[in-house]
Amino acid sequence: MRILVVEDEQKLAQALREGLEADHHAVTVAITGEDGFYLASAERFELLILDVMLPGRDGFEILTTLRQRGVTMPVLLLTARDAIDDRVRGLDSGADDYLVKPFAFPELLARIRALVRRGATEAATRLKLADLEMDVVRRAVTRSGEALELTVREFELLEYLLIHQGRVVSREMLARDLWKEARHTPLDNVIDVHVARLRRKVDERFEKKLVHTVRGVGFVVREGAE
Ligand code: CA
Repeated sequence: MRILVVEDEQKLAQALREGLEADHHAVTVAITGEDGFYLASAERFELLILDVMLPGRDGFEILTTLRQRGVTMPVLLLTARDAIDDRVRGLDSGADDYLVKPFAFPELLARIRALVRRGATEAATRLKLADLEMDVVRRAVTRSGEALELTVREFELLEYLLIHQGRVVSREMLARDLWKEARHTPLDNVIDVHVARLRRKVDERFEKKLVHTVRGVGFVVREGAE
């Protein structure tokens, strides 16, 4: 699984990375709440392990905002305080489980396996907007139950837009994250062509339009008018 760990105690963060990598996970570590929030919003992970006590933006705040923005990946909270308040607050904020520090590593792995068994991670492999559904694992997209035939690039583009649904995605973001190209200007036209093709496939035969252009900025997928 792709796991994001947000933990400001560097020794623990490093131990988590090593332990999870040894368990065959791909691990990204953020040591500040800001970085963690940015990564959780911008990239795709199947699990977020989130420390509650972070300087600046704490774990509860990060989690609440991510959930408000429609980020559905499962979240395991790490709490240093064995206080019932924290657990309740965590679960209320949208956490799937929590672990009280200090914990034994095998217990963490057991919790992760339990989350996977419960199907909590399945949500992260399916993206949905109105009647548009994407199965990221099977690489299949349907609208109103009808299969859409997308190229690899169109699929990646739609996946990226769906992960950021409701938020404007700029051409710079697409150039950087999908085309892996820092200089965006020469690519703008290429990006626009791909978005236009994708929009035809997604929206042309349907009354409700989902792919919108935000003039001068980029694109957004959402229900309803701009
Ligand atoms: Ca901490």
